[in-house]
Amino acid sequence: MPDTRYVFVTGGVASSLGKGIISASLAKLLQARGYSVTIQKLDPYLNVDPGTLNPYEHGECYVTEDGAETDLDLGHYERFLNVPTSQANNVTTGRIYQNVINKERKGDYLGKTVQIIPHITDEIKRNIKLLGTKHKFDVVITEIGGTVGDIESLPYVEAVRQMKWELGNRAMVIHLTLVPYLKASGELKTKPTQHSVKALLETGVQPDVLVLRTEQELSPDIRKKVALFCNVDNKSVIQSIDVPTIYEVPVKMQEEGLDETVLNKLQLPANKKPELKEWKAFLTKLKNAKKEVKIGLVGKYVELADAYKSIIEALIHAATYNDRKAKIELIHSESLNNENVAEKLKEMDGILVAPGFGHRGIDGKLVAVKYARENNIPFLGICLGMQCAVIEFARDVLKYDNANSREMDHSTPYPVIDLMEDQKNVTDMGGTMRLGAYDCTLTKNTNSHKAYASEHTKERHRHRYEFNNEYLKAFEAAGMKPAGCNQETGLVEIMEIPSHKWFVGVQFHPEYSSTVLKPHPIFMAFIRAAISE
Ligand code: GLN
Repeated sequence: MPDTRYVFVTGGVASSLGKGIISASLAKLLQARGYSVTIQKLDPYLNVDPGTLNPYEHGECYVTEDGAETDLDLGHYERFLNVPTSQANNVTTGRIYQNVINKERKGDYLGKTVQIIPHITDEIKRNIKLLGTKHKFDVVITEIGGTVGDIESLPYVEAVRQMKWELGNRAMVIHLTLVPYLKASGELKTKPTQHSVKALLETGVQPDVLVLRTEQELSPDIRKKVALFCNVDNKSVIQSIDVPTIYEVPVKMQEEGLDETVLNKLQLPANKKPELKEWKAFLTKLKNAKKEVKIGLVGKYVELADAYKSIIEALIHAATYNDRKAKIELIHSESLNNENVAEKLKEMDGILVAPGFGHRGIDGKLVAVKYARENNIPFLGICLGMQCAVIEFARDVLKYDNANSREMDHSTPYPVIDLMEDQKNVTDMGGTMRLGAYDCTLTKNTNSHKAYASEHTKERHRHRYEFNNEYLKAFEAAGMKPAGCNQETGLVEIMEIPSHKWFVGVQFHPEYSSTVLKPHPIFMAFIRAAISE
């Protein structure tokens, strides 16, 4: 669409103010008014994608249907909008430079000195506009990672300045800042916001809207003061007050008139306020749920809950639709052993063993699987969690001594989980796993088949290892059965123990596709099993 509008979201004062949630909330409100909207995240680091980052660094790596390894904010975008994102929705400085350098080597700039301005900024602009021109969205919301004033984000802010100049009122900037509350003097302080806007102005960018993150209500006087010092009108000073759940933010932003202000600035019709009926119905359920469902989430990155962001959100969605409050206990797999497992897991209604890489924490995961299996506690294993379920079954039921995944023990006598054939010659780490959505045919009358109420699904993957089909017959005979397979490759996608209350291991990541309005069937079935007597 030639007249796509571009909204840029920058941040100041501090990181972690929730630019992703504000962007997703605005997108939700515009979508509810009938606009086609997408959100893009520009990350100012040099990794080509976050796939090679330790989850402790940046939290979870989110995988799109087209197999891009991306920032976890894309998870929020999908959960809010219920629309899939793609590689184009997340671009890093690494990717920008890689593209420019590849072009230089091909001779595309022959004779020219290749520079940050205009070549890097042009490549940034190309990536922003791509979503408008190729994917034809009415509005593209681009979130600039980092904080204004960082050296790393300068080329992005420069690209924003240029696009504002080129597009006039088809582009605008929302700047998110913090208004801290000083307990000692009982005051809210606007100076950091003023300084942050000043930093933005130094780069030639005048923000059009300011979103002020605050713990306390902002008085009309404070709003007026910010408007006056930062050259914006009063209506463009939006309060973003702390709320108990991120899913309330769109409602708060609507109350503040963020969507209307944005549409007016972009000269787009702001028709009647959308009702957000289904969204609010979810919120009501979320707030009113009295009974709890306790889920033990066993993983090794539990010190940083963001490492399991999508899993936690998927559990919240499913619990809410089952009229339960999700009480998620993060359990460090390295702290679990045969002696303490009962103590740590006995209160749980369901046990989820998380995805992961490498040997660390595996023993505790196997202990958790065994406990769930032997005590008939509903169990969901995701990716490495499924692989652990297979290893535990091989060791404890099939009596395969030292059975393992080849990832953990290269010379195991029973490689029940083995490297995928097409992974054997892979040496590069970045972007080389089995990534993105693959078909899965479900076996009739299994828990998974019942959950999906369908014989076919498509789910996202991120792994190198798989169930070793050489052992399939032995597993089936002993009571662990495949409930989903990829017809084309014969890869096992789901393993179940039919004699157990509900024991499901999935090689894929259902958590990536659970959204507020469409909770994931596997999580729904897991919670149903967890709350059933
Ligand atoms: N490390 C395992 C593999 O590569 C599992 C990956 C995961 O849990 N995402 O197969």
